[in-house]
Amino acid sequence: MKILKFGGTSVGSVQSIQTLLNILKEEVKNGEKPIVVLSAMSGVTNLLISMAEGAADGRDFTENLAELEKRHFDVVKSLLSVQNQNPAFTRLKIYFNQLEELLQGILTLRELTPKTRDQVLSFGERCSTLMISKIAAQYFPEALNVDAADLIKTDSSFGQAKVDMNLTDLLIGAFYRENKDKVLFVTGFIAANEAGQVTTLGRGGSDYTAAILGAALNAQEIQIWTDVNGMMTADPRMVKKAFSLPELTYTEAMELSYFGAKVIYPPTMIPAFLKKIPIVIKNTFEPEFEGTVIRHDCQPSNLPIKGISSINNISILNLEGSGMVGKSGFSGRLFSLLAREQINIILITQSSSEHSITFAVQPYDADKAKQLIEQEFELELLANKLEPLVIEQNLAIIAIVGENMKQTPGVSGKLFHALGRNGVNVRAIAQGSSEYNISVIISGNDLAKALNAVHDGFFVELTKTLHAFCLGTGNIGQTLFKQLNAHSAYLQEHNGIQVKIAGISNTRKMTFNADGISLDSWKDDLEASNEAADLKAFVAKMKSMNLPNCVFIDNTASPKPVEVYEEVFKSNISVITCNKIGNSASYEQYKTFHDTAHRHGVDFFYETNVGAGLPIIRTLKDLMNSGDRIAKIEAILSGTISFIFNNFKGDANFHDVVKEAQEKGYTEPDPRDDLSGKDFMRKILILARDAGYAMEAEDVFIESMLPKACLEAQTVEDFYAALKTEDAHFGNLKAKAAAENKVLRYIGKLEDGKAAITLQMVDESHPFFTLSGSDNIISFTTDRYKERPLVVKGPGAGAEVTAAGVFADLINVGA
Ligand code: ADP
Ligand code: ASP
Ligand code: MG
Repeated sequence: MKILKFGGTSVGSVQSIQTLLNILKEEVKNGEKPIVVLSAMSGVTNLLISMAEGAADGRDFTENLAELEKRHFDVVKSLLSVQNQNPAFTRLKIYFNQLEELLQGILTLRELTPKTRDQVLSFGERCSTLMISKIAAQYFPEALNVDAADLIKTDSSFGQAKVDMNLTDLLIGAFYRENKDKVLFVTGFIAANEAGQVTTLGRGGSDYTAAILGAALNAQEIQIWTDVNGMMTADPRMVKKAFSLPELTYTEAMELSYFGAKVIYPPTMIPAFLKKIPIVIKNTFEPEFEGTVIRHDCQPSNLPIKGISSINNISILNLEGSGMVGKSGFSGRLFSLLAREQINIILITQSSSEHSITFAVQPYDADKAKQLIEQEFELELLANKLEPLVIEQNLAIIAIVGENMKQTPGVSGKLFHALGRNGVNVRAIAQGSSEYNISVIISGNDLAKALNAVHDGFFVELTKTLHAFCLGTGNIGQTLFKQLNAHSAYLQEHNGIQVKIAGISNTRKMTFNADGISLDSWKDDLEASNEAADLKAFVAKMKSMNLPNCVFIDNTASPKPVEVYEEVFKSNISVITCNKIGNSASYEQYKTFHDTAHRHGVDFFYETNVGAGLPIIRTLKDLMNSGDRIAKIEAILSGTISFIFNNFKGDANFHDVVKEAQEKGYTEPDPRDDLSGKDFMRKILILARDAGYAMEAEDVFIESMLPKACLEAQTVEDFYAALKTEDAHFGNLKAKAAAENKVLRYIGKLEDGKAAITLQMVDESHPFFTLSGSDNIISFTTDRYKERPLVVKGPGAGAEVTAAGVFADLINVGA
């Protein structure tokens, strides 16, 4: 025999009740006579609470009562044949009259006792069960409506009554023997004390009712039918990527639900565990889905944890002081006091020095707990052996759960890494001695971010979501969006990475969307935005959105964004930039950026600062990180200069080659900006710093290749005129090189801590001899690459390759 429990949403509408009936029909067709446990229609228990509390405050309840009636009557009208409707209306009306009388009493007395409250709440389950048993009787004539108050006996702790299992088992057993041939429809959630007064089993308690019946009757299975695909790795409302778990042990289910996985009420596991009855959580709205089985022996799983759950809005109290050290009775006194006063402690941690105890309670218990402790420990407080107590509010607990944790090292490391990287501060930690659970207390504001980040961290086989905030919609920014758009499906499938652009700003406007700005319509979205661009506001918004795995991307060439990098790092957000200004200004700033990023455990990637998308910075870092020593770096890192010297051969004269370079768009408007070597210098400087040298711009020697007259010319036109007069000079250089079978190259070099950019003649044994077009080239001579240097060569400029470099950095964030 099976127990089938249907939750609030499963009995919440005409449609869901029809689905429920189909599930039952299927069971009965297979020869089963299931026991059906029902919750109140969804929202009804909450409505009853607000009516009762409202009445105690003197508020009128008639409108709500009418709504309640209507919800039930509408179902009856839709699902019962006309001739059967009247008896159902009559029976329901009796309940509603009783409820009205109760509420009237509360309103008159302006008082709501826990006992009366339970009575009010009982009508939710009574009405739904009566209604559904009547509807079901059309298909199963043997349907019988059963009030669990007659079967489940408890003490008088109203609101959360404790079940007398022995008596209850007997009553259930006897009742069942009499009614074996019936299909029983039993009210969930409610019970009665010895005096026959209605009690309730705690919010969500219908699950427990099902387990109590199942255990008393040694059912073959307890099915919990709800509105999700079983127990999931996290609350699907908070973590979109949560997925269903096929199996859990009782302990795992207990821990997950205790720490907030609402899908099953924690005490449910106990009777089932004792009798080894499997609990199956199924989705009424997708009945074919297997759901989750909770049982003793689960198949070994390779997931380090089973799930993550959370409790929002808790308060903590912290007891601290010398008076506690070595006092064996101290915590005993504390916790028996709180237990005596029925204050439920959600979590406790004690420092190993015994100097402090922190515990978490529901916010409504916090003040009372504080008062009680102040009374109990009055002497200790007066003698300053205890610090004054403070309540901290608006906190949350997040717990990771799984029996595998015991065998898997590094689980807590992963948890704290995910939290730390996302700037989530941990207030307290508790690990159950069973090692099935690690719980941490964090700020309530960080909860959504923390859950998603931790989920991403543990379930790596799933897609990881990066949230990017992008500055700059020029050539590079636009190209990046285009590339991301074209490549997103591949990334998701092959790398498990999803990139959402959560914010975009150019110099005029900005726009945000936590779900990701569409890469098809970002331009229109930005144009349509009514938020004017404001860098400070952009950063503030990015911080307040508090999304996991955030990346700030600077696709500008402006000094402005650089001013916010430090703040961004401090908010535990990674920075990717193609903007060279940040790294090539003062060494102090360079160092601050790197140190701050490091301290906050986030990435600072700027591959495109040198050689656009070519893997130069990464190669240098990999060499250094793997213990190689850099002896020498030589490089041509200016596409313009590269082009000029590659074409300065044969009969060509220097003036014409420069002009051609300009006409082909290779130079800045004033070619001297390239030829002066300043941009090249910045790149060499960044490389030198990355290679470990605390160098400033002035320390890089630049041999000017341009004669004085050219440099000093007033206009670009004058410059060209001056350059023309120098043709002989450049021609001589070229001829001299050619005579020695060499070519001219403008080369940056870093050796022995010295950086210089000079015009050189190189022969064919030099790797730069054969450079073509506007390519960049860099050679690393190291301890390992001594005989023949490691060379990286290729196009070092252009929007496509630069955006691709930014893209590559993005994919590497947090890798
Ligand atoms: P019912 O009314 O059927 O008893 P509940 O509302 O009590 O249903 O519980 C189901 C809800 O629990 C789901 O809709 C889901 O939002 C929430 N929930 C929280 N944590 C989890 C989890 N880990 N797995 C599945 N559901 C969860
Ligand atoms: N109706 C009760 C509640 O909402 C019991 C339940 O649904 O399990 O808490
Ligand atoms: Mg429930």
